Amino acid sequence: MSNEIIGQEKIKNLFFSSIKNKTLGHCYALEGEKGMGKSRISELVGQMAVCENHNACGTCKSCVMAQAGTHPDIEHITPEEGKKTIGVEVVRKMISGIYIRPYVAERKVIIINNFELAMPQAQNAILKVLEEPPEYVLFLLTVSSEKDMLDTVKSRCVMLKMQPYGKAEICRALSEKTKLSPAEIEFAAAYSGGNIGKAFEISENENFAEIRREAMDALTELIDNGNIMPLVNITGKDKSSDIDTTLECITSFLRDVALIRMGLNSSVINIDYTEKLERASEKIIPQKLVECILIILETRNILKRNINYNLAVSHAVLCSLEGLCKADIQKG
Ligand SMILES: [Zn+2]
Repeated sequence: MSNEIIGQEKIKNLFFSSIKNKTLGHCYALEGEKGMGKSRISELVGQMAVCENHNACGTCKSCVMAQAGTHPDIEHITPEEGKKTIGVEVVRKMISGIYIRPYVAERKVIIINNFELAMPQAQNAILKVLEEPPEYVLFLLTVSSEKDMLDTVKSRCVMLKMQPYGKAEICRALSEKTKLSPAEIEFAAAYSGGNIGKAFEISENENFAEIRREAMDALTELIDNGNIMPLVNITGKDKSSDIDTTLECITSFLRDVALIRMGLNSSVINIDYTEKLERASEKIIPQKLVECILIILETRNILKRNINYNLAVSHAVLCSLEGLCKADIQKG
């Protein structure tokens, strides 16, 4: 079996054994957040399903075609050009060809990555096939949250949750594939929270270190001197990807403060800011800390739903953050 994909052994083995034992079902959905490697796994499983040796050997004719993206029995369903969602038309087109037997392999594989992009009408069309699928068909879906799937579709699928990657696993991958220092690797692995894609993103994004430093300094300035202006400046930028990173860094700072308050210092992520975090943990009101973390989480969800980050949203975050430092005033 191809070892190029790190981790997710449980899922890989499940497919490996059910293909080998001929117990493979007709529809599987891999669920997990961005960066967890869902589409790489769906590609690998697709290759396994068409491989002449049933194990994604990488050398047979089918594997070579699958890896080149030219296998005639593997079809990818994506949004039509210029569209952001998967409409019913592309699904109908796929269905019209689904009753033609596979050309070279034993199976016909339909891969739909980012199934959350499939509109309800498109999902319903797929459901009709799933109710009575041709015996050779295998659907592989990937989705960030099962909430984005119709219950009826979900009930016809085997739902598989991607497992968080171990810290050691991520550290090993980062040290093999990046030029980061051991301290940077340690931080990226801890910060990623078991998401390997995110660990790589952090290490490859030159912006990240800068955004993080700004966020950490702005919070320290607020907590030490009651000055909110640096936070106003960094949350007022217009690039939404940067805003999300800023909010994420702020959350990780607040989360670390909460951990220190609970005496869980060994779980702190921002180790290089330990002294500042400890100082903050003495000044921050615990209830406000939780409230603040919740407001920022909600704000990030709003951003993810593509609703424009606006003044009202930024105001809510700033108000809650400002509440943190009132501890100083109240204490006199
Ligand atoms: Zn093969």
